[in-house]
Amino acid sequence: MPSPNSRLTDQIEQLLATDGPLRIVSAGEPVLRAGTPPYEGQLSPALLARLIDALRLTMHTAPGVGLAAPQVGVPLRIAVIEDPATVPADIREARARVPQPFRVLINPSYTGVGPTQATFYEGCLSVPGYQAVVTRPSEIHLTGEDEKGHPIDEHFSGWPARIVQHETDHLDGMLYLDRAELRSLTANEVLAERWTQATPGEAAEGLGFELP
Ligand code: ZN
Repeated sequence: MPSPNSRLTDQIEQLLATDGPLRIVSAGEPVLRAGTPPYEGQLSPALLARLIDALRLTMHTAPGVGLAAPQVGVPLRIAVIEDPATVPADIREARARVPQPFRVLINPSYTGVGPTQATFYEGCLSVPGYQAVVTRPSEIHLTGEDEKGHPIDEHFSGWPARIVQHETDHLDGMLYLDRAELRSLTANEVLAERWTQATPGEAAEGLGFELP
């Protein structure tokens, strides 16, 4: 393993010098487009643990259901996910939005499993104020490691699969808008007013876009 990287260590120490949630960077910041090098022990174990705690706190505070390190300006292949799935029963059922316990994804990489796709509105803490419809594989195979370095090799389905894909895409320098149906783009206040249905069929009709 390479020795801890001192420039990166300094950057993260500085970031973590103040307690509390970190600033989330918005679309347009190059760090969100750069892609991330794999995590290979660039940080000391203690600093890695502090970074993960800060990512979790920042995700909770936002609030959001996932956060990738580049979203706080850190160019490392690390993300966290957690979703209490506190949504009405009809939405939970239509979107398979089951609770996702807290997980740390280090060096994650996914592939779609099977032909089934899911099409729903999705948003991003780095693109505040808007959501758009994204079609993604309903089920994925994820590989990577957890925070202890133990391998991850498992299937995710339903809403947790969407979260994992969204966060892993961040680590590849992608935003959900790169995959979105752009005619579906909706401001949050309009979404709350008009498109609260469990599935985006009415939005497709109203805004003039095709569902797969
Ligand atoms: Zn995002």
